[in-house]
Amino acid sequence: DASVTLLVRVARLGTRFVLLLAEDRTEAKRLDAVRRDFIANISHELKTPIASVGLLAEAVDQAADEPERVRRFASRLSEESSRLARITNEVIQLTRLQANDAVAERALLDLDEIVAVAIDQNRVLASGKRIELALRTRSKARVWGDRELLIVAVHNLVANAIAYSPEGGRIGIGTARRDGIVEISVTDQGIGIPEEDLDRVFERFYRVDQARSRHTGGTGLGLAIVKHTAEEHGGDVRAWSTLGRGSTFTIRLPEAASAADAADAGAERP
Ligand code: ADP
Repeated sequence: DASVTLLVRVARLGTRFVLLLAEDRTEAKRLDAVRRDFIANISHELKTPIASVGLLAEAVDQAADEPERVRRFASRLSEESSRLARITNEVIQLTRLQANDAVAERALLDLDEIVAVAIDQNRVLASGKRIELALRTRSKARVWGDRELLIVAVHNLVANAIAYSPEGGRIGIGTARRDGIVEISVTDQGIGIPEEDLDRVFERFYRVDQARSRHTGGTGLGLAIVKHTAEEHGGDVRAWSTLGRGSTFTIRLPEAASAADAADAGAERP
C-alpha cells in the first residue's frame, strides 16, 4: 500500500536524521572538551611566568641598594616577560589556525626562498652553539600558500633542531620534489625522541621532558603550529628519530605546478 511505504520511508529518514543529530552533538561535545582542555593548559602554562614576574619585581624593589642583584633580577624579569610574550603569540597563532581563518592570502611561493628566510632567522641562535646549518638541496619547487605561516613552520623545525642539538652539531635542511609533492626536511644529530613520544610531540603543550624543554625556553606549541600549518596547506608533517642519535622532521605539501594551475584551483593569482 502506497501510504504505508511512504510512512516507512519517512520513519527511516527521521531515524537517520536523529542519528546524524546525535553524531553532531557528540562531535560538538568532543570539540568543547578539547577547547576547555586547551584553556586549562594555557592557564597552567601562564601561571609560572606570571608568578615569577611578581616575585622578581618584589625582589628588585628589596634589592634597591645592591646594583649587582638588581641587574640579575632585572635580567630574569626580562626573560620571563619574553617567555610570556612567546606563549601569548603562539597561542594566538594556534587559535587562528584552528579556527581556519589563519590563511589570510595565498600566493605562489618559492619554497627555497621560504627555507632560506627561516634559516637566516636562526643563524644567531645556531652560531651561539657553533652549530652548522647546511642547506643540502635546491628544489626550485613552488607551493601555493601563506608565506608568513610557512616561514614560521620551517623556522620552528630549525629552532627545535638547534635547541635539542649539542654544541658544535650539524643540522641538514633539504628541499625536494617528486610526484606533485614537495618536501622540506630538517635533520639534526641531537638528543632524539623516545619512540613512544614520537606521535605525541605534535600535540599542544606536549613536551618529552618538561625540565629539558623549560630549560630551552620551549612552549610546547611549536610543533602543533607546524602540524596545523601543514594541514591548512593540504599537507602533513612527520617525524623520525633515534634516541641519542638525532631526529628528522619532514613537512610535505602539494606542489603548485604553475600560477595557471593555482588559478584553475579557484584561488587568486599573486
Ligand atoms: P618546545 O617549544 O617545547 O620545543 P615543540 O612543540 O616545538 O615544543 O616540541 C615538543 C617537544 O618535542 C619538545 O618539548 C621536545 O621534547 C621534542 N622535540 C621537538 N623537536 C625536537 C628535536 N629536533 N629533537 C629532540 N626533541 C625534539
